[in-house]
Amino acid sequence: MQFAQVLVDVPTMQTDKPFTYQVPAQLAGDLKLGMRVIVPFGRGKRKIQGFIVGFSDHVDFKGPVKPISAIIDPNPVVNDEMLKLSAWLAQTTFSFRISCVLTMLPSVMRAKAKKVLQRTDGELPAALQALFGDHEQIEFDQAALSDEQTKLILKAVQAGQLSVDYVVKNHAKPKLITKVQAHLGQPQLQKILDQVAKNAVAQQKLLRWLIDHPKDAIAQPTLIKTLGINASTIKTAAQKGWVTQSTVEALRNPYQKPIQKNYPLQLNADQQNAVDHIADSIHNDNAKVYLLEGVTGSGKTEVYLQAMQKALAAGKTALMLVPEIALTPQMVNRVKGRFGNLVAMLHSGLSMGEKYDEWRRIDQGDAKVVVGARSAVFAPLQNIGIIIMDEEHDSSYKQEDTPRYSTREVAKWRGQYNHCPVVLGSATPSLESRARASKHVYELLMLPHRINNQALPAVHIVDMRNEMANNVTSDFSQSLVDAIKLRLARKEQTVLMLNRRGYSAFLLCRDCGFVLKCPNCDISLTVHLKGHQMQCHYCGYEQPIPNVCPNCQGHHLRTFGTGTEKVEQELNQILPDARVIRMDVDTTKRKGAHEKLLARFGSGQADILLGTQMIAKGLDFPNVTLVGVLNADTSLELPDFRANEKTFQLLTQVSGRAGRADKAGSVYIQTFNPDSQAIQLAKTQDYEQFYRSEMRLRHLANYPPYFFTIRVTASATYENQAAGTIYQIANFLNGALTNRNIILGPTPSAITRVNNKYYYQLIIKYKHEPNLQSALETVLNKYQSATRHGIYISIDPEPVSFM
Ligand code: ADP
Ligand code: ZN
Repeated sequence: MQFAQVLVDVPTMQTDKPFTYQVPAQLAGDLKLGMRVIVPFGRGKRKIQGFIVGFSDHVDFKGPVKPISAIIDPNPVVNDEMLKLSAWLAQTTFSFRISCVLTMLPSVMRAKAKKVLQRTDGELPAALQALFGDHEQIEFDQAALSDEQTKLILKAVQAGQLSVDYVVKNHAKPKLITKVQAHLGQPQLQKILDQVAKNAVAQQKLLRWLIDHPKDAIAQPTLIKTLGINASTIKTAAQKGWVTQSTVEALRNPYQKPIQKNYPLQLNADQQNAVDHIADSIHNDNAKVYLLEGVTGSGKTEVYLQAMQKALAAGKTALMLVPEIALTPQMVNRVKGRFGNLVAMLHSGLSMGEKYDEWRRIDQGDAKVVVGARSAVFAPLQNIGIIIMDEEHDSSYKQEDTPRYSTREVAKWRGQYNHCPVVLGSATPSLESRARASKHVYELLMLPHRINNQALPAVHIVDMRNEMANNVTSDFSQSLVDAIKLRLARKEQTVLMLNRRGYSAFLLCRDCGFVLKCPNCDISLTVHLKGHQMQCHYCGYEQPIPNVCPNCQGHHLRTFGTGTEKVEQELNQILPDARVIRMDVDTTKRKGAHEKLLARFGSGQADILLGTQMIAKGLDFPNVTLVGVLNADTSLELPDFRANEKTFQLLTQVSGRAGRADKAGSVYIQTFNPDSQAIQLAKTQDYEQFYRSEMRLRHLANYPPYFFTIRVTASATYENQAAGTIYQIANFLNGALTNRNIILGPTPSAITRVNNKYYYQLIIKYKHEPNLQSALETVLNKYQSATRHGIYISIDPEPVSFM
């Protein structure tokens, strides 16, 4: 092994292959596969991060081979499984391999090289001297310097007074803390205590503590806080030899509060049957995929927990994926309460440092159970015994940026690699998964009944056209208001959902019809009453709410559409005594806010939980007996063949929040389309019937699961560039692919302009297309150089949204 193949951290087509480096003698014994290293790259002194993906004892080309400069971490950060997974991922998502490797790692490992200026020799001009202060080295951030300064720097570099270097900054560092421990025995400490000066109160406190805790090593900040002393007292004590101070690695613990322990429940027959089947595969190292289809409140979580228990008992680990952890604190607490410290959590609510620490606990084998959202599918667990994906139909499982992976497909890949079962659970499985179960690609496990055989809630469809005919412009129908009043009288709780998928409150001038739009995007701005701002939900643009119409200077600007704030105001007017908790992006911005709001609701401090889709998932509150959906239609109107499916899933999911314990529940769905199929079927909550009827429609229209889909998007600064490019690609694909597939489009994307870029797309529908991979790779290669002109191509396999 004199040479190593290194994947460099430069995501371009030209660098999307390992580069060969020399293994320097001083590192020969230390280098291992999957290690992070620093390597020189390109001309000059530029240094970057890379990953070792192979070794060899010869090189195939002539010319100088540069040596590896240094090791970043003492141990490999990517294991064999992850190396293979990254290669597969790169191929199937049409992305660079380095992007795939980085996606799998905590973001602190995305080390970036920094340019620094190093003083070498002699006096600097005064202007530069001021820039350096007492530092020998400063960061060279051209953007922050004036032209004048830049000129001076270049001159100083030429004169040899300064040199430009590159350093790779590693942010992945464990947190270190100082621990303090008694160094002397109790009798000696007692003797010292008797002798210290009467007024040395702090020293006395410390000595007494040491005498009482002869064996404890305590974190210095904790000791300082407990005793009310300061660091200098401890420093003095260390100098006198009373205590020893040591530096240890500390793990940042993301759960501060204690979690109540819970124990396995006695399973019902359906649950037991499911666990038995899954356990069979765990014990036989069988990489089977199960679809656990259970109505809401059927006890799927208990099946997950007991199946994971089987994996742990067999000496293996368990991976559990949930759509969005912040939205499902109850689920996380159940897992934590069952498996305690064996659990690690990975999700977007953690700080970068916390994530890195959780990642290390998993990597080192201290955590055997991982719970997390989408990216947790890359958790470095070894010897996995089971992978669970709760709410498998959820669209958050699809990554919308490169690499555009499907969590389900990655989970299945890891199931194969680890020879372990994958359990996909849902009350409303994706049609793709349900169809695979029909074809016996997956094994179907059913939980058809609610726990305690409680009936599913009774669903009432409220025809809002009648309400409008009665000249009511309220967001609430009379029947829903009556139902809420009944719950208030009975001291039961209500969940109200405002369906805002692709929908929000906008500002319209009643005089001229002007709608205030984003200057950067083809979309209207959303009214945010709090803060009095208009906001673009695509690019973040903000401006104050205008008082007069920018178009006609009229004074009749009015908010149209419905937002949670507006509904809350109305609710306060109709039911002034009701206590309302509002849950939406605005009230849940802060870390832990979801959990706090839900805990307040759970402990009965509110009568009504009003929120967006984020309240549809996973909530299990026994006192909720009413669910109201204020506007069921908006998700039906989206230009997307999955509109029915998404609406049905959402309505079923949110309806399932009612009547989960011993009290019966009911649901009111307000709609302008009472006869639409998704609404009618949500009334009976009969997923199987929905599946059959929706499959007929998909079959007629040649949509998934009968066809696979892939979307190609061209984006550019000028609309004609985007359009021109996508037409060229369509022509090329028409020639390169067999005629067994269907190309939809090209068309402008549903929102054609976002952040001043234009988007055009086409969709390929195919069953089996032998030339697809190579044709799309050709497209990417061909347009690689177009990025210089601001034209970008992206390829999205199995997109979840067609907007
Ligand atoms: P789902 O995820 O299918 O909607 P949950 O797993 O949340 O359902 O279960 C619904 C409720 O039933 C929970 O409060 C859970 O504790 C309870 N439960 C689940 N299984 C059992 C069981 N075997 N015996 C008693 N209660 C159970
Ligand atoms: Zn915008």
